[in-house]
Amino acid sequence: MKINKLLIANRGEIAVRIIRAAQALGIPTVAACSEADVDSLPARLADEFCIIGGARADQSYLNQQALLNAARECGANAIHPGYGFLSENAEFAAAVEAAGMIFVGPTPDTIRSMGDKAAARRTALAAGVPVVPGSEQALDSLADALDVAENIRYPLLIKAAAGGGGRGIRVVNNAQELRAIFPVAQHEAKAAFGCGEVYLEHFIAQARHIEVQILGDGEHVVHLYERECSLQRRRQKIFEEAPSPALTDPQRQALCHSALQLAQQLAYRGAGTLEYLFDTTTGRFYFIEMNTRIQVEHPVTEMITGIDLVQWMLRIANGEPLTLRQDEIVLQGCACEMRINAEDPDRQFFPCPGVVKTLVWPQGAGVRIDSHLFAGYCIPPYYDSLLAKLVIYGENRVQALSRATAALQEMQLTGIKTTQFLHQWLLADARLRAGDFSTTSLECWLAERVAAGTAVKQEA
Ligand code: ADP
Ligand code: ADP
Ligand code: MG
Repeated sequence: MKINKLLIANRGEIAVRIIRAAQALGIPTVAACSEADVDSLPARLADEFCIIGGARADQSYLNQQALLNAARECGANAIHPGYGFLSENAEFAAAVEAAGMIFVGPTPDTIRSMGDKAAARRTALAAGVPVVPGSEQALDSLADALDVAENIRYPLLIKAAAGGGGRGIRVVNNAQELRAIFPVAQHEAKAAFGCGEVYLEHFIAQARHIEVQILGDGEHVVHLYERECSLQRRRQKIFEEAPSPALTDPQRQALCHSALQLAQQLAYRGAGTLEYLFDTTTGRFYFIEMNTRIQVEHPVTEMITGIDLVQWMLRIANGEPLTLRQDEIVLQGCACEMRINAEDPDRQFFPCPGVVKTLVWPQGAGVRIDSHLFAGYCIPPYYDSLLAKLVIYGENRVQALSRATAALQEMQLTGIKTTQFLHQWLLADARLRAGDFSTTSLECWLAERVAAGTAVKQEA
């Protein structure tokens, strides 16, 4: 079956990104919008839009039946889920297929086997990919958890098997804390993700988050090198770059080869990412999870490889074979991404929805903006705070970072508080310039600023 019309079951910048890819391939698009998103850029840019339900995500972007009905009514025979929402929901992927439509992504079985993070660890182990020392299964009882914890050593993390977006993870320093936190974590996981399963992992203190991009057509699989995503706040990525400044070429080869092997074992179809922690003290890497969808930071990979990942997702869903050969995928230059969120860095990143007053995007060589913003746009308070991604390319890291600094200076976004100026001081930090950081660095640097009384200034 070929895609004759594509329904986009998402919103914001990723909906715009998917519309652009579909247009380039001549595929007509329908933006599925909640009542709060009728005046949004995706609604304007798509060939058609339809209203799928109320502002709350459970009434719209998480409402499977509403999305399937909308596709049917608009005559769309394919659905792209974007990221977040239903993108890693195996039941939804299966329902799309059962309705005789194409789900742009992996098979429901693949989503099932990798979407549960505890199950993904087992799959990785079976493929010979190292994982962080932790529990083999999801743990039901506190007694089992206490047993396992002794073997993997404290400090450790309790993770929700169905968690994501940095949520559902708690640090535990000793048995006493485990006793107190374990039942709470189970309860929270059930409430937040509809599944109370949790597992344990040793907490690696000096780790970098490095992930590998994969593309497959169900038979042939390639990797598109790595992304470095260590600069995080509350386990959510803020600033990403590719390639990682921490890896030597042999380490890069080993990491990408390991990811490729795992994806080949899954006969992976679509775009996917294998996330790893790289222990900077030992030089060893450990698989942590796989995201069976397009990721927020995919553009940095597109910049250094020249390959359009979202177009490939659509072409693969359309039944085209993946004609890219591994030796043709060449890593060139360096790219970084700055996430511009509607959050106030001076007030614990409190969400700041509102109306965009003035908006001037940066321009010039190597600058790419992925965003759904326009002057006068009223940001609804119901969804993720991501407003824009500034993606900057340079022939080398020094050029990419200096172009990024210039781009932030050029950018003018008023009316709301954003993370724009957070990136400005981040880029001025010698430790970032030296590539010397781990997953806990950004929070430490933020704490230093608070202690020194230097706020991230922005005139609104
Ligand atoms: P990426 O892994 O692509 O960098 P993020 O972790 O930032 O992406 O997640 C992308 C979006 O998806 C965010 O809006 C995040 O809140 C959401 N998300 C991801 N996984 C889940 C999940 N399991 N439950 C709820 N939201 C999720
Ligand atoms: P999510 O599904 O929310 O993205 P991940 O398992 O990918 O969850 O973890 C999110 C982040 O939490 C990682 O990028 C890393 O910074 C931190 N983290 C996860 N596991 C560990 C670990 N075992 N040790 C140290 N940090 C970890
Ligand atoms: Mg993750």
